[in-house]
Amino acid sequence: MPDKEVPISHIHEMFKKGELTPVELVERYLDRIKKSFAITNSFIKVFDEYALERARELEAKIHKYEELPLLFGIPVGIKDNINVKGFATTCASRILSGYKSLYNATVTDKILEQGGVVMGKLNMDEFAMGALGNYSFYGPVRNPHNPEFLAGGSSSGAAASVAAGEVKVSLGSDTGGSIRLPASFCGVFGLKPTYGRVSRYGLVAFASSLDQIGPLAGNVEDLARAYVSIAGYDPLDSTSVDIEQHHLSGLMKEITPDDMVLGYPDIVENARMDQEVKESFFNLLSELTNVGFRVKKVSLPHIAYSVEVYQLISTSEASSNLARYDGIRYGFRFRGTDLEKVYNKTRGEGFGEEVKRRILLGTFALSHGYYDEYYLKALKVRRLIKNDLDESFHDADLLILPVSPFPAPRLDEEKDPISLYYLDLFTIPSNLGGNPSMAIPWGKTHDNLPLGFQIVSPLWREDLLFNFATYFEKYFI
Ligand code: GLN
Repeated sequence: MPDKEVPISHIHEMFKKGELTPVELVERYLDRIKKSFAITNSFIKVFDEYALERARELEAKIHKYEELPLLFGIPVGIKDNINVKGFATTCASRILSGYKSLYNATVTDKILEQGGVVMGKLNMDEFAMGALGNYSFYGPVRNPHNPEFLAGGSSSGAAASVAAGEVKVSLGSDTGGSIRLPASFCGVFGLKPTYGRVSRYGLVAFASSLDQIGPLAGNVEDLARAYVSIAGYDPLDSTSVDIEQHHLSGLMKEITPDDMVLGYPDIVENARMDQEVKESFFNLLSELTNVGFRVKKVSLPHIAYSVEVYQLISTSEASSNLARYDGIRYGFRFRGTDLEKVYNKTRGEGFGEEVKRRILLGTFALSHGYYDEYYLKALKVRRLIKNDLDESFHDADLLILPVSPFPAPRLDEEKDPISLYYLDLFTIPSNLGGNPSMAIPWGKTHDNLPLGFQIVSPLWREDLLFNFATYFEKYFI
């Protein structure tokens, strides 16, 4: 069983030398899933037979390739808000029970084109609303480093499955931090690409102006392979952008420290955060300075309002996107003869508490008389935050900041929903601006749980993130 740190190129070498076959690899991963799944609860559905069948097909044509496709024979997990044709898409919600995907998401097709083996659908916070992985109809996802702690969310299964060695790479979605936060709680790499870089066709919409699909992996090469596989223009998503794509070799180039200025936002100095997280972050900055990076403080005056702006915009968009789950068209239906009652009961019983809270808030923010005061004002502040980000890149090549102000909490810890929103303070700005950003694992808490940090680049410059990460992985991890 290759560790998560072993890059895919190494596995491909083994395939070529006949030391390992795709079927053997998939069998080993299925075996691992069987053993650790009872602890992590990272899958909603494991595709055992389908995955083995797919591995057999790939194995039969391995000799045809001079060079293997990027994910050939590699076990991949997919968050359960992304369609895989013929299988259920639940979004971890009761309201979608019984619903089957009629088509593949574009990213699913792309994973298959690159030879990936889809191992199953991963657990998540219901409709991707949450930061801890505890809001799922299918139960919470436990942290593979210590099952008494949560994995983080909303791509909880995507992070836990990679960390537990249940899949090699996974796909998650990130609206306000949902790839980066669980990646950092579980000690793996996670990338939110530039908005428009990866097609959202076949991703169940939460907040369409913020949602973006991205990969999680145990090392930089695997992350780059998954990213290159899924990126690209798609006419089926009107927000996807036709722009030059990155190649693996360009991403894996390492930078030299004196090429690079890292800017840390001043908010990190006085935001409410865990002492250990703060110390770890400032230690990191001094270590980076020691090896020659120029590190400087940058001012982004409006990012202090990110959480409030995000909550207004994302809930407004969600209230509209989730209106389609009425019991008539998808999944779960409360049976009755009175239409009004069917709607009410279906939605009342089909959605969990957090999703209902968001729908109510969004509906209120969009309602007549409040629209200008809340939604419109939030859009204006979003623009100011975006301007802050754009300007900060005149002073720095990359921004560097913590991922979450607090480390993974215990499963049984009391959690107040409003204070959970503030876990996304450092991740939300890149969603509001559309910027790519990457979570990189680094350090541990006193409970021996992983910590991480985040780097953010100008739009379309995922290459800078990967170049930094390549250097960092080589010399720091
Ligand atoms: N934690 C944030 C929320 O609850 C982000 C979710 C996400 O990125 N999908 O909305």
